[in-house]
Amino acid sequence: MADRAAWVERAMAGMTEAGVRVVALSWVDNAGISRAKAVPLGRLHQLAGHGVGMSPVFDTFLVDDSTARTDGHGGPCGDLLLLPDMNRLVPLAAQPGWAWAPADRYGQDGAPYPGCHRSFVNRMVRRAADLGLSLLMGFETEWSLGPGGLGDGPAYGLSRLADSGAYLLDVVDALTAQGVEVLQVHPEYEPGQFEVSTAAEDPLGAADTAVLVRHTVRTVSHAHGLRASFAPLTTPSGIGNGGHVHLSLWRGEENLMHGGTGPRGMTSEGEAFLAGVLRSLPALTAIGCPAPASYLRLAPSAWAGAYRCWGWENREAALRFVTGPAHEASRCANAELKCFDQAANPYLVVGSVIAAGLAGCEEALRLPEEYSDDPAHADPVELERRGVERLPAGLDEAVRHLEGSAVLRKAMGDHLFGSVLAVRDAESVLFADSTRTQTVEATRWRY
Ligand code: GLU
Ligand code: MG
Repeated sequence: MADRAAWVERAMAGMTEAGVRVVALSWVDNAGISRAKAVPLGRLHQLAGHGVGMSPVFDTFLVDDSTARTDGHGGPCGDLLLLPDMNRLVPLAAQPGWAWAPADRYGQDGAPYPGCHRSFVNRMVRRAADLGLSLLMGFETEWSLGPGGLGDGPAYGLSRLADSGAYLLDVVDALTAQGVEVLQVHPEYEPGQFEVSTAAEDPLGAADTAVLVRHTVRTVSHAHGLRASFAPLTTPSGIGNGGHVHLSLWRGEENLMHGGTGPRGMTSEGEAFLAGVLRSLPALTAIGCPAPASYLRLAPSAWAGAYRCWGWENREAALRFVTGPAHEASRCANAELKCFDQAANPYLVVGSVIAAGLAGCEEALRLPEEYSDDPAHADPVELERRGVERLPAGLDEAVRHLEGSAVLRKAMGDHLFGSVLAVRDAESVLFADSTRTQTVEATRWRY
């Protein structure tokens, strides 16, 4: 306790020196919206020890801020404690005077709250550790700037850096100042669309970083008089924003995606993990493509990974296996889940993917033959023979798969699983009569 007090004292001194006056604590709800409470820096002592109160009703919030209500979830009663993870407390470079920390949720009795998404990730990381395994994960962040945004011109065009260069420089500088390692930044396919990818880290860190990266892009955009959208689709006829997830499985210093005798050099454990993810992919779609809007993006031949298959460097496979440059393969070999978007709660994504992969390890699953083309151009009979199928075409279909997933139900526990299902069902109803245009317009500025 004394150690903790001294540690908080040091953090306070660091924050004061950085000019921080208010600290934002954020969590992500089941609908994928990052929400926050903020406290003056002077309350950090109290906050680090006891947290700040919040209602459990947020578990049932939908994308439009209405709520789902079931017997087990929602309603006006009860209170939780939001406790910042002081290891991730960081001054926000593009919002001088502010700092940010992701928060865990506890009951008033101090016990971890069963609906807490960060605790879910920690449980899955511990389950992996019990098997001697660890993971590195990382999110790619794509975003689109609103009307009047920068970077009109050809897809991936160098010419687009002429007007967006100063803006992107500010994005990179802010991320770097916040300790986020930027790997790559570029103009994406659509006018006004960009992407930044960041270094792989432990699963909880990767999810926290995804939240921080989006907030940073938002605030830098705001400072440039712009507005950033991370929605699955920002125009009815556009290409979407993905939220691709990279992962590699490790045993100690050994990357299990490399140096084995399995497909493309995977070890048998690496292969089993990916086979577990591939098996659960229809159910995982309800986690990684969580909104009705997600299914407007998840289309064939758009590099969104709309088919359940895996393939080496195949950008139309939901599971793309990446070996990386030969001289770096032992470190870099990884798999990319391309089908997910950023309406997804990143904590639910990493926890669920780990659960699905570990089930594959426990059952020593094998991958099917890899698929090396765009399935959209293949003969349907051939696809069926190869076991390659479209991922769910809508949220309802994905949710039915999720409901039937014993692996994900057990991993999340009844409370978290029930609240996710309640939110998914309520969002399906909310958009049941919406046209494509209405759905895009209602969600464009929410994520
Ligand atoms: N924008 C595409 C998506 O929605 C991804 C493009 C790429 O592969 O970078 O997933
Ligand atoms: Mg991209």
